[in-house]
Amino acid sequence: MTGTPTFAIAGGFLGVTRRDPDAAAVIAGVPFDIATTNRPGARFGPEAIRRASRMLVDGDHPTQRRDLTGKLADIGDFEIALGDVAASLELIERQAAPIRHLVTLGGDHAIALPLLRARARRHGPVGVVHFDAHVDTWPDSFGQPYGHGSVFYHAIREGLVDPRRMIQVGIRSPVQKEVLDWTLQQGVSIVSAQEVHEQGVARIVERIRAVLGSEKTGGAAYLSFDIDALDPAFAPGTGTPEIGGLATWQAQALLRGLGGLNFVGMDMVEVAPVYDHAEITALAAATLVYEYLALALPA
Ligand code: MN
Ligand code: MN
Repeated sequence: MTGTPTFAIAGGFLGVTRRDPDAAAVIAGVPFDIATTNRPGARFGPEAIRRASRMLVDGDHPTQRRDLTGKLADIGDFEIALGDVAASLELIERQAAPIRHLVTLGGDHAIALPLLRARARRHGPVGVVHFDAHVDTWPDSFGQPYGHGSVFYHAIREGLVDPRRMIQVGIRSPVQKEVLDWTLQQGVSIVSAQEVHEQGVARIVERIRAVLGSEKTGGAAYLSFDIDALDPAFAPGTGTPEIGGLATWQAQALLRGLGGLNFVGMDMVEVAPVYDHAEITALAAATLVYEYLALALPA
């Protein structure tokens, strides 16, 4: 092996140096974490994920047998408004809007609302594969209307997502009955973490594909990945950890089962490096984004 060792390559995601927003997929960081309800720190997620990602590029993707960096750009971090949730969400939407295929490194989950507003303007209501320990359909988060636990409440109410083509995977936190009932009444499918453990990856892949439809029949699909879908043993570096979650291998295998869906964007959220150990959370996040790119970037 020749060339620069991975620890010394450029600081962009997967070491990419391309910065133009016209690439087939565009990475942007969103260093925003003031809508969290428990531990803050996801503002440092983008840089931690980028750093961990650099280890992944000294060869081709292991199942795709190809390099994923050629069609990728990293435009750096979005501007946010310090201390102002509403103004930040507006800024995020404005910066996301012109980008055809955006892959976002968060940041807390509240950023997904303006990202979905931008996607819906292009594609209409999108289908969503949502990995999380939490349903994130609370009408508000302790009075904050746009808290990180309310993102899909607003996304559904605003018609940004098609709830009948939305599936949540890894769910296991305590939740009020009325919140859960409302979510199911909208048509959202919910797969608990325990169901993943008991039914196995292959069955859950079938269930996700049944909800989202195929590339031909299903329309646009968006992946929203809250790293707390993973068990704290695999992702301690996050704000609201819940035990009983997915192993990294389960999440990786589930994503690898989703080839052929018409993905139009992704966010990776809630990586809070100060609670991480040995960078395992950042590495998990970086690798799962890498798996998404293997699905979404044309060969
Ligand atoms: Mn969560
Ligand atoms: Mn979440």
